[in-house]
Amino acid sequence: MRNQLFIDGEFVDAIDGGTIEVINPHDCSVITEIAEGRAADIDRAVDAAAAAFPAWRSMAAAERGRLLLKLADAIEAHGEELAQLESLDTGHPISDARKLDVPRTAACFRYFGGMADKLQGDVIPVEPGFLNYVQREPLGVVGQIVPWNFPLMFCSWKMGPALAAGNTVVLKPSELTPLSSLRLAELMNEVGFPAGVVNMVPGYGAGAGERLATHAGVAKVAFTGSTATGRRIVEYSASNLKRVQLELGGKGANIVFDDAIIPAAVGGSAFAIFHNQGQACIAGSRLLLHERIADEFLERFVALARSIRLGNPLDPATEMGPLTSPMHRDRVLSYVKVAVDEGGEIITGGSAPSDPALANGCYIEPTIVRAKPGDRVCQEEVFGPFVTVSTFSSDDEALAIANSTDYGLGGGLWTQNLSRAHRMAGAMRSGMVWVNSYKRVNPGSPFGGTGLSGYGHEMGFEAMREYTEAKSIWINVDAQIPPWYPR
Ligand code: NAD
Repeated sequence: MRNQLFIDGEFVDAIDGGTIEVINPHDCSVITEIAEGRAADIDRAVDAAAAAFPAWRSMAAAERGRLLLKLADAIEAHGEELAQLESLDTGHPISDARKLDVPRTAACFRYFGGMADKLQGDVIPVEPGFLNYVQREPLGVVGQIVPWNFPLMFCSWKMGPALAAGNTVVLKPSELTPLSSLRLAELMNEVGFPAGVVNMVPGYGAGAGERLATHAGVAKVAFTGSTATGRRIVEYSASNLKRVQLELGGKGANIVFDDAIIPAAVGGSAFAIFHNQGQACIAGSRLLLHERIADEFLERFVALARSIRLGNPLDPATEMGPLTSPMHRDRVLSYVKVAVDEGGEIITGGSAPSDPALANGCYIEPTIVRAKPGDRVCQEEVFGPFVTVSTFSSDDEALAIANSTDYGLGGGLWTQNLSRAHRMAGAMRSGMVWVNSYKRVNPGSPFGGTGLSGYGHEMGFEAMREYTEAKSIWINVDAQIPPWYPR
């Protein structure tokens, strides 16, 4: 297991020798120590990325693509090892890491590997005698800052399009979950990415993160994390007016209408909130139920929540693992008190499981809370296995509740009425809407939000645009002196 910083094609110690302990959330034991990148290490990484940029941007796009495709193959070849590492470090159930995290990471790099030589420019029909064409050019050194909830997958979402478009990268993984990212850097080195094109510098937000976001040599910072930190990133970016892309929090409304297929809606809604212990920005954390089906739905939903198997994430039978850190577990549990203080009813869960085998870990039972749409637990992102339930009696009321938070990332609709589905999907203030499904992602489909959920898009063709800028080039085809030139 690599535990140093990856800079300029080599694994190196931090300049001042700092380290970070990496914790296993299953029992809070120390897995390992890794080097802690600080400002001077970020400077070194940005210098390496800047030096690598001219050759990387002028390499044939298909060659850049080929390296990304080789990386996707290498991820699959080391899939089990990466799944184990991700599960150990984050608490993702190993079955999810095998089925979702690793294949999605490979698929994303493969998508952008194929995209590298498909990014075309435009020819604009301007006045006769002139040719005007627009080419899309890479930005330069890109800083990428990712959180702890899907470390491996977010590396592919961020690095895939940036590298395909010809940028070089300094990525700062979360201080809490750096292990799979460091292994990924090693694989990138092995498949032949030139030195300096990718630099991986784990460290704390206040040290490495702030330096990366303020650095004058960084052309863009792409950030995934909390809205509070996102605001700071925007402030930091002012120093050199770097571009900013923000994927922030969410408070997804998941609406079940009275014509929904109830068993499908129950299963889909459980996945929407309990997958990855609810630690997903797109989680369906506000369940809105039509009053006619609320009792039937809840009875099944609560039974399903109570049947979810909590346990050691490395056990293939485990369906829900621990939250990723003790700090975060405490934060999520604090919302149980917030709910009760506001008059909410804890329908199930609300505490750590009683199983003594899980007593030292960051576990929380699947928690379902009846609450009013204006309550704090219905407005603030809890980011855990914690779902609020409220009822509605009309489409208009459902829409008003769905749109009543400052976030706007993901949302779900369960209905068999086609026109209702289209009407509601169009009216929801949400970057993504799933109908009779929830939390689908695909590398070809843009992922992003509005409002306090941030701006800019990951994945799809949109992402290639986000990592390039347009340059407009004018050719005077006849090489004539323009008539307004007074000669
Ligand atoms: P966070 O904002 O504390 O940290 C995210 C990353 O930013 C980490 O790498 C951290 O070290 C770094 N960071 C922290 N302070 C910084 C600073 N001052 N300058 C630069 N970097 C700094 O968030 P978190 O607790 O790690 O992640 C959970 C949050 O992320 C949740 O609110 C969740 O909704 C959000 N999130 C959003 C998405 C999305 O795609 N929209 C995805 C996952 C998580």
